[in-house]
Amino acid sequence: MKSRIHYTKPSITGLEVSYATDAATNGWGEKCYEYIHRFEDAFKKHLNVQYAIATSSCTGALHMGMAALGIGPGDEVIMADTNWIATASPIVHLGAKPIFVDILSDTWCIDPDLVEQAITPNTKAIVAVHLYGNLCDMDKLLAIGKKHGIPVIEDAAEAIGSVYQGKRAGSMGRFGTFSFHGTKTLTTGEGGMFVTDDAALYETVLTLSNHGRARGQSKQFWPDMVGFKYKMSNIQAALGCAQMERIDELIKRKRDIFYYYRDQLVAIPGISMNPEHLNTINGAWMPTVVFDAETGVTRENLQAAFAEENIDARVFFHALSSLPILGGEQGKEISSSVPLRAINLPSFHDISLQEQDRVISVIKNVLRS
Ligand SMILES: *Cc1c(COP(=O)(O)O)cnc(C)c1O
Repeated sequence: MKSRIHYTKPSITGLEVSYATDAATNGWGEKCYEYIHRFEDAFKKHLNVQYAIATSSCTGALHMGMAALGIGPGDEVIMADTNWIATASPIVHLGAKPIFVDILSDTWCIDPDLVEQAITPNTKAIVAVHLYGNLCDMDKLLAIGKKHGIPVIEDAAEAIGSVYQGKRAGSMGRFGTFSFHGTKTLTTGEGGMFVTDDAALYETVLTLSNHGRARGQSKQFWPDMVGFKYKMSNIQAALGCAQMERIDELIKRKRDIFYYYRDQLVAIPGISMNPEHLNTINGAWMPTVVFDAETGVTRENLQAAFAEENIDARVFFHALSSLPILGGEQGKEISSSVPLRAINLPSFHDISLQEQDRVISVIKNVLRS
């Protein structure tokens, strides 16, 4: 049996271990927020935003941000049909309705023209998800939001390292969210971040994130709102501080891995991969191959071929509107078609060139057979 090639795996060095050990040993009492504040400050600087709140997950950050925007029963939130469930579930938990629209065929991100068509008097927000690190058309989405007075939210969970016309993903919308789950480019095990340049929104989310206790409140144990408990621990933040010191290295490695695949695969007829449009940088969280329908290659062929070689490759996200829990419709045209002939390739930090070559040969063989 050939050695297993994993799909994702974090890069944890002595630096992460030493910071986490220090937090576990000393980070209590008056020091219990030290790494959290340091992590938030480093993240703000990296993103060039004014406010950041470390959270227990990206889902929690989205939930609080959407609650702070006042999204609730009867409201609609427009998002791409191709996505992980985590972006849709906070909308559902708030009693609002996710409105799924189709994706663009090159970036696999939300189609701005369809967003505009989907706007109704009940629309309360538009969510831009930078899928797999590929960037949404932010110029168009922000213009539509501005024209209709609807905030654009950026779920940048997959887009650390992605840059749009000089601005980092997550820094352009009313607020942005990030995930530090173990599969993401930067990890704290579990964790997330809420970022914004809106001072009032920041105050509201800060209060919500601390069980509704406003920081100006002088009475003890006195909540001013019914809030949430989506905080990050100091020990997780210590891991985050170490990862932030290595952020350029972590992103560069992702991009190098992606380009090694791309250079050998993208010229083959019938294949497309994550794009990198003019004036953008793709953070390359998830190298993905989509086969043209004419090739006849299917998700099932691909899964079987990779399993045979003991390589952990993953399927492209299912169209959310096709899930029985979210309506169980047909799915949109592109969002329901692409996952049937696509695969995510392994891209963990320490993958070797030999391992990448094994992945590449599986793809070439599937096309030949
Ligand atoms: C990973 C991911 C999330 C969820 O992140 P958690 O930290 O697990 O809550 C949300 N949105 C997208 C697009 C993701 O990829």
